[in-house]
Parts: sequence; structure tokens; C-alpha cells
Amino acid sequence: MLKYRTGIKNLPTYDVVERDWNIKLNANECNMNLPPVVEERVMSGLSRLAFNRYPNTETESLAEQLAGAFHVQRGNILLANGSSEILEKMFFCFGGRNHKVVYPRPSFSMYKIYADLSNSISVPFDLDEEYRLNAGKFVETVNTNKAHLAVVCAPNNPTGTHIPLEDIEYIAQNISCAFVVDEAYIEFDKKSATEIQHKYPHMIVARTFSKAYGLAGARVGYMIADKKITEMTGKVFMPYHLNILSAVTADIVYQMRHEYEPRIAMMIAERERMALQLKQMEGIKIYPSATNFILMKYDKAAALNEYLINIGIGVRSFGNAPGLENCIRISAGLREENDTFMKIVKEFVENHTEE
Ligand SMILES: *Cc1c(COP(=O)(O)O)cnc(C)c1O
Repeated sequence: MLKYRTGIKNLPTYDVVERDWNIKLNANECNMNLPPVVEERVMSGLSRLAFNRYPNTETESLAEQLAGAFHVQRGNILLANGSSEILEKMFFCFGGRNHKVVYPRPSFSMYKIYADLSNSISVPFDLDEEYRLNAGKFVETVNTNKAHLAVVCAPNNPTGTHIPLEDIEYIAQNISCAFVVDEAYIEFDKKSATEIQHKYPHMIVARTFSKAYGLAGARVGYMIADKKITEMTGKVFMPYHLNILSAVTADIVYQMRHEYEPRIAMMIAERERMALQLKQMEGIKIYPSATNFILMKYDKAAALNEYLINIGIGVRSFGNAPGLENCIRISAGLREENDTFMKIVKEFVENHTEE
């Protein structure tokens, strides 16, 4: 009989069942591959790699570039396989038996999984009915629970909600445990907590190349934190955890990040255009978003989702997840994809509205 570690059996599975969608708007990815000029540089970079050697110069070059861009030291940067790996390791390092972890609800579904996986005690903090995070109450929850780790997602997935930097700073000033700010979508928002991180030795900012920079397939993320934190938490990663192909790709993408500015602006414009059109449809509520996706609430969400699946359009429906009943999250795709999506939703709504 196989005897697994306790707790694994009851872990939820991260839902990654994918179909061959005609239009894929379900995972907040960038719906464009590398810009051609970037692709050319990446391909020639990859062709020169020493595949026989363990990573060293490739990962160092990326880390140093990031340190320079954020005006921090190399020691303040920790690279990882997506920000997922950063998050998992932070839960592992600060969580554990009898350690409480506070994170928002609804938010990124992986927080609960990492809490369970690290045998920590989850303390979900409910957002208000408009999905705003009350910073004062969040601080109170962290402190009364004597939490070891507090996490916020700014802007928040799956609700899209912007969290003002003043609120993040207020939280940082009033809690003393490790404080992770998950900035997976910050490129679509305004100010980043990286601006204030140097003032708070317990603040960890987690970033990723998966969303705005369209490198979801390469799995590259990083964190910016105090040197003491990167040193301590760095011990729990496996040796040479970031492979050279991904490191070189991210390094070149970041050098050429100006190529991404028009795309990011376009995704923001599409998000706004979709929000405006969907909002006008009977019975659909749209929440303000500071990301590359929007959350809609519609009392026929389940039926609409089925309808979309049948014609090959993938969106993210949340079923009965707490606080997300009747909600669907739609990533902003290409203009034509978004147009097709909205046309179909409009038809559905018109056919399902009682006169
Ligand atoms: C997508 C996402 C991540 C992780 O992305 P990686 O691909 O692992 O970098 C982390 N947090 C949130 C909120 C996300 O939506």
C-alpha cells in the first residue's frame, strides 16, 4: 500500500483541463507570441547556449538586469519558475504547522493550495461586496491571528480589483510578519509596490513574465525582497532551479521590454472596450479591472458558459466558489477574438431576456 504524506488526498487539483479552443480567454495569458524582433534575438541567444553546463551566467545576467532596472542589489532578487514557485516557497518558508496565513478571498485559488501543502492554517480574509480590500480590517485580521504570513494580490485575480499603493503601504507599516505582494498583473495597473519595498524589510514583491510579457510557457518569475529574506528563503529551492533556456529568453525579453509597451496599452484598451460593451447588456455586471481580464456577474453565467464551451470559446467560470457565484472571468484577447466573444454574449443575452 502506498502511504502518501497526510493532506495530499484532500488537496484540490489546480484545474488545467484544456481543450483545443477556437478562442482562448480563460487563463489570462497574452494572446500574442513573441514580437518578431524579440523572437529573432531569443532564437539566436538559444542557439549559443552551453547545454552541457549547469546554469550560471544566464541566470546571473537576468538577475543583474532586474536588479538594475529596480535600483536594488543583486542580493535583493530571487529568480524562480514562474511566480508560482516564489509563492509556493514563501508559504513553505513562513507557513508550517500552527502557522497562520492570511490571504484575500476571493483571490488566486492557489493560495489555499499552498497553505494546505505547507500544513499551514488558512485564514481567508473576505473582500467586500465590490471586491475591495479593507486595509484596516486586513491588518486587524493579521495581527489578531498572530499570522506568520500575509498575502495580497495587487491587482487582484480573479476580480481585477486595483489596490491603492497607499493601502499596501498601510498594511506594511502595521504588520510585522512576512508580507507577500503578488503583482502578477501589475504591468496593467499603475504604481508597483517595488517602489516602496526597500522601506519594508518584511515585504516580498512577487512578479512574473507570464502575463504582460507573454512568457507563460517559459515559467519565469522573481521576487524582490530584503537580502536577509532572499538568503534564507533561497535555501529551499533546488539547485539550479531556473533552466538556461528560460533564463536567456526572459533576459532578452526584458532587455526589449519597450517592444511590449504598445501591446500592454492595447490589452488595456481592449479590456476597457469590452467592459463598456458588456456593461450595456441586460443583467450583466462588470467589475472595474486593473488587469488584462474582466470579471462579469450574470445570473445565467452557468448556461452562458456552457453555450460558449459548445462553440469553442474558453472563459473561466467559477461555479459556486465562495464570493464568485455566477461570475465569469474573461481575458482580453485580440480585438477580433473579443469582438466574436461579445457578439455571441450579446446574442445569448437577447435570447434569454424575458420581455
Ligand atoms: C498567473 C498568476 C501567478 C503565477 O504565474 P506564473 O506563471 O507562475 O508566474 C501568480 N499569481 C497570480 C495572481 C496569477 O494570476
